[in-house]
Amino acid sequence: MARSNLSQTLALPLPVDTHVHLSLGGDPQANARLQLAAGVAVVRDAGSRDGLLDGVVLPPALTVVKTGPAIFKKGFYGSFLGDNRALSLAEKIAQTPSSFVKLILTGMVSFDVYGEVGPQQWSFAELCEIVGLAEACGKKVMVHVNSDKACREAVTAGAHSLEHGYFISSETLLMMAEKGVYWTPTVAAMANQTRDPDKRFSAVQLQIIERNYKRHLEMIRFAHEHGVKLTIGTDSGSYNVPHGSSFLREMELFVEAGIPVAEVWRIATANGYELLGLPGELRLNLDPGLPLNTLLEQAKLVFCKQLSI
Ligand SMILES: [Zn+2]
Repeated sequence: MARSNLSQTLALPLPVDTHVHLSLGGDPQANARLQLAAGVAVVRDAGSRDGLLDGVVLPPALTVVKTGPAIFKKGFYGSFLGDNRALSLAEKIAQTPSSFVKLILTGMVSFDVYGEVGPQQWSFAELCEIVGLAEACGKKVMVHVNSDKACREAVTAGAHSLEHGYFISSETLLMMAEKGVYWTPTVAAMANQTRDPDKRFSAVQLQIIERNYKRHLEMIRFAHEHGVKLTIGTDSGSYNVPHGSSFLREMELFVEAGIPVAEVWRIATANGYELLGLPGELRLNLDPGLPLNTLLEQAKLVFCKQLSI
């Protein structure tokens, strides 16, 4: 039986969600506690409006890497999690509280017209300028981006990770594999909309949503097969993406995409640590033949013991 081939023990760091918004979808402290309760040990906060999280005391057991407010162009998508203050680009970049800068390059995916996304905010030349300004102060740029054209420009300009990346092509993914650019596809944020708990969407919109997330699963599979560095990022705090429980959901969708469970564990842990540049000293020993939720249960046991919570 295949089980015996899979049952060697893996040594992995704790689970990392590389894309959440603690300031969205409820109180930030409560949201942080939900992450811990779900077995997530590390999160990267991918943007809060005008530094909303700056003064918030979060549970010390949760490692939080903050990008501060996202950088977006005035009049375009992103004010609710972005920097609305009258500062220059260089000032905004220098002020981010970690080594990551969150840049919003395009708008959201349309649910009315398949393949359509909100407009691109920054030209390729501006993108290069932003990446250069970040590099000058030792920072990396994570880019909120949809549409293949914008994804490709972000990769060419020197983005460190692409977030979402709906409608990305296989050619662009191959460029990412070559350049070592991370991809955080946030597929649960799309797939969860098919459940439509508030009956917000029409039948036509639900078909488009379904098509979007099914295509995204195919691209996630392609990315994995061709060596793109994937991470689990949930976009928790956005609509229908609850804090905590979304981590397991995103992992399950990676399995649905065709990635073996033991590989998903590695993506959910080691890849996240690598993206964030963390040492990963808190390690788990796991049998990869066990189901995905074992990862989170074991993670909780480890950090409860080591961090005395
Ligand atoms: Zn986000």
